[in-house]
Amino acid sequence: MKTYRKELFFNISKRVDFINITADVEDAVTESAIKEGIVLVNAMHITASVFINDNESGLHSDYKRWLEELAPHEPLSQYNHNRTGEDNGDAHLKRQIMGREVVVAITNGKLDFGPWEQIFYAEFDGMRRKRVLIKIIGE
Ligand code: ZN
Repeated sequence: MKTYRKELFFNISKRVDFINITADVEDAVTESAIKEGIVLVNAMHITASVFINDNESGLHSDYKRWLEELAPHEPLSQYNHNRTGEDNGDAHLKRQIMGREVVVAITNGKLDFGPWEQIFYAEFDGMRRKRVLIKIIGE
């Protein structure tokens, strides 16, 4: 069995944003030379997510509005977590709902997606450097 590991780096200028990382994951699969296996893609921070869904801007704005309704950033005082001096109580909750990672099958050297599936990095506490891990196993 072969393994391959790669990190992606982000420093997003907004507090909340989504980035399509499908091409980055495809590049990692190509670099790995693994033809049959699985790829794990996970956010390495507890205030960011990796998720799979449609690359459709209306859907992404719907997610952002829905997440802000569920866990508004302000007032900061509504979160016990912010008593530690942080201001990202909402970002931890948003990350929990959007998930930590995705796993995608690799078949014949390609990501074996369903219709319209794309991979996104979701930032909920941006304006600082953050990482995503890509780990590929197979042969
Ligand atoms: Zn925090």
